[in-house]
Amino acid sequence: MTAVRADAHVHDVVGVGIGPFNLGLAALAAPLDLDTVFLDRAAEFRWHPGMMLDGATIQVPFLADLVTMADPTSPYSFLSWLKHTGRLYPFYIRESFYPLRAEYDAYCRWVAQQLASLRWGRTVTAVEVDPHDDDLYVVHARTADGVESYRTRHVVLGVGTQPVVPAALRGLDGPVVHSSQYLPHRDRLRAAGSVTVVGSGQSAAEVYRDLLDATGPGGPRLDWVTRSPRFFPMEYTKLTLEMTSPEYTDHFHSLPTALRDRLSREQRTLYKGISASLVDDIYDTLYRMSAAGPVPTTLLTDTEVRGAVWDGERYTLRLRHAQLGVEHERTTEALVLATGYAAQVPDVVAGIADRLDHDEHGRLAVARDYSVDGGRRRVFVQNGEEHTHGVTAPDLGFGAWRSSTILAAVCGREVYPREQRIAFQDFGVPAGTPPPSGTVGAGAAVAAALAGGAAR
Ligand SMILES: Cc1cc2nc3c(=O)[nH]c(=O)nc-3n(C[C@H](O)[C@H](O)[C@H](O)COP(=O)(O)OP(=O)(O)OC[C@H]3O[C@@H](n4cnc5c(N)ncnc54)[C@H](O)[C@@H]3O)c2cc1C
Repeated sequence: MTAVRADAHVHDVVGVGIGPFNLGLAALAAPLDLDTVFLDRAAEFRWHPGMMLDGATIQVPFLADLVTMADPTSPYSFLSWLKHTGRLYPFYIRESFYPLRAEYDAYCRWVAQQLASLRWGRTVTAVEVDPHDDDLYVVHARTADGVESYRTRHVVLGVGTQPVVPAALRGLDGPVVHSSQYLPHRDRLRAAGSVTVVGSGQSAAEVYRDLLDATGPGGPRLDWVTRSPRFFPMEYTKLTLEMTSPEYTDHFHSLPTALRDRLSREQRTLYKGISASLVDDIYDTLYRMSAAGPVPTTLLTDTEVRGAVWDGERYTLRLRHAQLGVEHERTTEALVLATGYAAQVPDVVAGIADRLDHDEHGRLAVARDYSVDGGRRRVFVQNGEEHTHGVTAPDLGFGAWRSSTILAAVCGREVYPREQRIAFQDFGVPAGTPPPSGTVGAGAAVAAALAGGAAR
């Protein structure tokens, strides 16, 4: 790696990746007396371009923008963008909390264009301990012209999540695409004789709905296959939404790893389902189309894709129905894998791995303040902590709270006030509640919960 000079400039924060979360951090840091730089390998901000479907909305209210939940007076708010673009009154008349996905993307780009701390076309390749100062880090980034190296007191990893392809479907030839790349392949998929969408979440439903418009006489046969026992809706009731809160995150973070992992699996309906309006739109569309005759589509639940073979013209999918334990086959000419995303320990931190905390599964053991470096509080993650913090990790509505927490650690003081309690419900035993006399304490109760029983 390029050696850095001992007298080279030192930044307060270097952010790796400029998705919504580090963009929010950059916007909240802008008015502060901080020297920050944010690096991204992309040429400019583009939010999930492969899924920028016409009419799609974000799944959280507009207040879940980059800054408002931390600072409602920030000039980088979604409302400021609406005012700036002359869209405030139309948005007001539209009376929907949920901006279009395209609006959210344009809003983020508008904010990005105002922030001098952003550097695009920088692929971060490594983070290292500064050879001249053990408390500093050096972030190396490849550019079109060579390598740049940034010395910094703090590093914030905001590299997002990576598309997941199930093992049985990796390395396939032929027209197979992950939903993250749907739009560039849309026309080819619509021209295929048959397409199969694999997956059960919002992206799967959006792709299925989009392809349904092309189905019918002369259009592709369309199948939708999911391992889930049903096409479940995203749970959006208000007491459940209270789990997107600082205090539920405290509770979740305090639990043992195995219990957190089990809860994460159980809480999939909270954010890995399909918006109820889209489920109904799909049903109503099928109903309308069936008035003209059979709709060339098959929807299969509780069905796992165990393998696929491409013969140069079509795939033969090996499927297994979980409840029946029956294997069967289907053929299809194209595949869309809407099989989700997952956080990974970014390769770029391999050089400082010995300073980072890991759990027994090799994942980053993220502290409650989002730091990962053994209490030094100099290396932080954004949206890489679902396994330690739960449902708030990927939620746009919680980004500003997390950024405020990281900025408080960087500045050594509370720069944006953070709510510690927002819910009406308690998620653990209410604070100050003494254990009933003669019974075991909370610790033993959790152990019993893990063992699936109750403390006696
Ligand atoms: C289609 C889709 C729709 C979603 N809609 C919503 C929604 O409505 N509401 C909600 O709450 N959540 C939503 N999410 C979930 C989540 O909020 C988003 O995934 C969000 O984009 C995550 O932001 P991020 O900043 O973590 O990462 P990303 O947006 O993934 O950005 C990460 C950035 O890091 C850069 N990067 C990665 N590695 C490097 C490197 N080595 N060097 C330099 N740059 C690097 C990438 O280029 C990228 O720009 C959605 C997710 C998807 C996929």
